[in-house]
Amino acid sequence: MPLAYIGLGSNLNDPARQIRRALGVIATLPDSRLLAASRLYRSPPMGPLDQPEYINAVAALETALAPRDLLHALQAIERDFGRVRLRRWGERIIDLDILAYDDLCLESPELTLPHPGIGERAFVLRPLAELVPELVIPGLGPLAELLAARATDICEPLEEIA
Ligand code: ATP
Ligand code: CA
Ligand code: CA
Repeated sequence: MPLAYIGLGSNLNDPARQIRRALGVIATLPDSRLLAASRLYRSPPMGPLDQPEYINAVAALETALAPRDLLHALQAIERDFGRVRLRRWGERIIDLDILAYDDLCLESPELTLPHPGIGERAFVLRPLAELVPELVIPGLGPLAELLAARATDICEPLEEIA
């Protein structure tokens, strides 16, 4: 089965809870199996700075859903959570991006793979590296190198509850 990596983000309405809740729903997607999820990470907002900090995580999903079907399934979850788009890169209750889908490289108005932001975003690279440190991102190169270039960006794990 194809392997997809999904990036999750939230900065509204108890973001950590939203991320855990979204992981729970992703685990129930048809013809799919949630293989792993990273810890939760916190980072400052990208884009408008007058919004709360973000909680992010990455999930590894084995899935028989075709890329566009997976995208639509994730968008349905975003809608169920009540996501509203107010401004670009603005606050949201949940954001679900397909970071990569096997070795697929494609560019269409609806879906670009790997996700266009992936190479520059510590809040994606760091949780992804927790799951698959040796990953080579199609078209971009080794994850470890991309991450090294972002070493000073703030993105830290939420403290584990003992
Ligand atoms: P960014 O895409 O820079 O992370 P965002 O997540 O805030 O910003 P959205 O408003 O959630 O942007 O999505 C805009 C559009 O991106 C969606 O309508 C979707 O069709 C498109 N898109 C393209 N490639 C992908 C992908 N790999 N995963 C998710 N959405 C994608
Ligand atoms: Ca996003
Ligand atoms: Ca998105």
